[in-house]
Amino acid sequence: MHDDKERERPDRRPPDAMSAPRYMDIATFMRAPTVRDWSECDIAIVGVPYDGAVTNRPGARHGPREVRNASSMMRAIHPTTRTNPFERCRVRDGGDVPFRRLYELEAVHAEITEFFADLVRAEVVPLAVGGDHSITLPILRALASEAPMGLVHIDAHTDTWDEFMGSRYSHGAPFRRAVEEGLIDPRRTVQVGIRGAQNSTEGWDYSEATGMRVIFMDEVTRVGVESVGAEVRRVVGSEPVYLSFDIDSLDPAFAPGTGTPEVGGLTSREALTLLRAFEGLHFLGADVVEVAPPFDPGGSTALVAATVAYEILCLLAQACP
Ligand code: MN
Ligand code: MN
Repeated sequence: MHDDKERERPDRRPPDAMSAPRYMDIATFMRAPTVRDWSECDIAIVGVPYDGAVTNRPGARHGPREVRNASSMMRAIHPTTRTNPFERCRVRDGGDVPFRRLYELEAVHAEITEFFADLVRAEVVPLAVGGDHSITLPILRALASEAPMGLVHIDAHTDTWDEFMGSRYSHGAPFRRAVEEGLIDPRRTVQVGIRGAQNSTEGWDYSEATGMRVIFMDEVTRVGVESVGAEVRRVVGSEPVYLSFDIDSLDPAFAPGTGTPEVGGLTSREALTLLRAFEGLHFLGADVVEVAPPFDPGGSTALVAATVAYEILCLLAQACP
């Protein structure tokens, strides 16, 4: 959008990086044009800058801004599949969810649901960038229809704990609430990358008792990410599914900038390989959460999150009409 010719392009793809340097202009997700009119858009990348539900270190409220900046590095054509998501569909930066009642957790969640419900009504596929993991529950509420969705959940933690400090909506609880509310089908839910010592096994127990397929990091190490990818496909099948990617699934060597780091996680290469195995699944939406820039002095976490978001964008774009 550096000259009139660029501005007049009917599909308004990101500016051609071969003629407009990627470090220029106001940072948007993947350098996509911003949009508020959802009818002009097939996939909206939306920031959810909220971290009021963390149990440990805050900072993920700054995630969307840093991921926008790092995502200027993302190019168009996928190295393996040669997918160009910007050719396949109209990818837009949908801005950030605006909050009016920032200091009330459940009110914030209601505002997130309201925002994403507008996208769903316009048949826009959302790719959210958090924010702490509590933001996924209100997004699932917006996407919910008669049948519960499948869930692919990549994380060090199952996030199926019940209460913490008097709240049922912390970032450790979204998928327990999602099962209770009938938003996801636990038998079509798979959690990958789980690890770290716990004070109580309550969350792990809940996941397994409800029939979720919980793939601990030990199993990932033993069988490898390609086998894990095949297992994910088996569990979720061909019905609608949501993808939630917590950046703490990666080892802190690759993604130190997060609130609840756990050593012994995925490498960034394993994460990309795993995501590529999900090609062709019926995704209704996705998120990348828990990027906390105050703990990311070198920017590596924001870069890996931007790259993960690009991989997910390619998966979502494959379903574009
Ligand atoms: Mn999480
Ligand atoms: Mn986590």
